[in-house]
Amino acid sequence: MPSPTINNGENTARLREMDQIHLWHPFTQMRLWPGEPPLVIARAEGNWLIDSDGQRYFDGVSSLWVTVHGHCHPEINAAIAAQLKALDHSTLLGLSHGPAIELAARLTAMTPAGLSRVFYSDSGSTAVEIALKMAFQFWQQSGRPEKRSFISLEGAYHGDTLGAVSVGGIELFHQVYGPLLFQVRKLPQPHCRRCRLGLIYPSCDLACAQALEPMLTTHGQEICALIVEPKVQGADGMIVQPKGYLKRLEQICRRHDVLLICDEVATGFGRTGAMFACELEDVSPDFLCLGKGITGGVLPLSATLATERVYQAFLGEFHEFKTFFHGHTYTGNPLACAAALASLDLMEKNRVVASLAPRIAQLKASLAEIARLPHVAEVRQQGMMVGIELLEDVAAERPYPPELRLGHQVIMACRKRGVIIRPLGDTIVLMPPLASKEEEIALLLKATAEAIADITGGRP
Ligand SMILES: *Cc1c(COP(=O)(O)O)cnc(C)c1O
Repeated sequence: MPSPTINNGENTARLREMDQIHLWHPFTQMRLWPGEPPLVIARAEGNWLIDSDGQRYFDGVSSLWVTVHGHCHPEINAAIAAQLKALDHSTLLGLSHGPAIELAARLTAMTPAGLSRVFYSDSGSTAVEIALKMAFQFWQQSGRPEKRSFISLEGAYHGDTLGAVSVGGIELFHQVYGPLLFQVRKLPQPHCRRCRLGLIYPSCDLACAQALEPMLTTHGQEICALIVEPKVQGADGMIVQPKGYLKRLEQICRRHDVLLICDEVATGFGRTGAMFACELEDVSPDFLCLGKGITGGVLPLSATLATERVYQAFLGEFHEFKTFFHGHTYTGNPLACAAALASLDLMEKNRVVASLAPRIAQLKASLAEIARLPHVAEVRQQGMMVGIELLEDVAAERPYPPELRLGHQVIMACRKRGVIIRPLGDTIVLMPPLASKEEEIALLLKATAEAIADITGGRP
């Protein structure tokens, strides 16, 4: 068996060459790829990634927003190893198993009131597809078949499969696939600094949320559900919703009997400073989509939670065919469920959410300094989620020309300082693991501030 590749320049060169011959990387312009030989990550320890040459990097985006307790945590690893000895995989189609059952009970107990049923899949995108299909079929089987269209937000991101892209609102990801997508009504983005309605919070009285009311008064009869990323629109650049926004959406949905789907794939499991972002606004959705941090960031798993009301609409005689006709091959994989259970145990034992406050405050204090850099248009933070938006001319709201790849330049400058992050366009994203230590957050912020100052050429 080959051992993990460490301190072996020859092997790294070979892997890099093969990468360029055989791999197609996600969200990556592959023509530019050979120009910057990739780091080949060989190991991870705590909040650090170690490449095949033995260089250590702080994992400043939690390996794409998933790492909770740090990498290779001994308790999660032990839980997976123990599960692997007992049962590697078995299907949930027609059979059941302990880890899936126990995790479902844990999830329904810890999520907002009313969510009583757990449907597993393997990625955030599929968790969203499942919520969309369930919501659609719910009305078909509840005597309201005309309720069949969805509402979502401008700037929304719900994943990359076609249903998820249909309810998405990021133009760049949307354009090419337009002809394949279904039509969705859009609410104006709740983005105070760049308010679409030209208003100012709080005197606006949440007009961007209130826009839902006339939409539902006119079209409510045909609207099936509203889908929203609660509190933070992640992939559009960490757009933080004003206080009261989510609650207002919920109230309007309830008045018009429109189902509410909360996509907490990014925000769930402590990311926002609460266990779930819905808690920040005391919201109880009809569907909750979970993914990313659910296993502590170790194995692919996702879950769509639904209320008993939704679930009941799918019950009937076999020949009525009210069944939810959906299921992925690896749904509820026992190893992934065991990892998730171990991660939840650690969350409780280490009081992860309660102990975030000092790290969040530390981020906030250091970000205030970054906000003073001349090309920083806005710093957005909710808990352990941060977006730093860079503009060429802040006063004129003029972005950098895309060919500069400014965000990319900044993250490469961070890499030289021992920190791995990944931007969203020219918004620099910081998503440190929830278990980050004080000195690690300090390193992350120092590297980011220096990199931004270096690349944008401006000090305060
Ligand atoms: C990442 C993300 C998804 C998609 O999850 P995948 O596991 O990448 O399919 C969906 N919704 C939100 C809010 C996300 O951040």
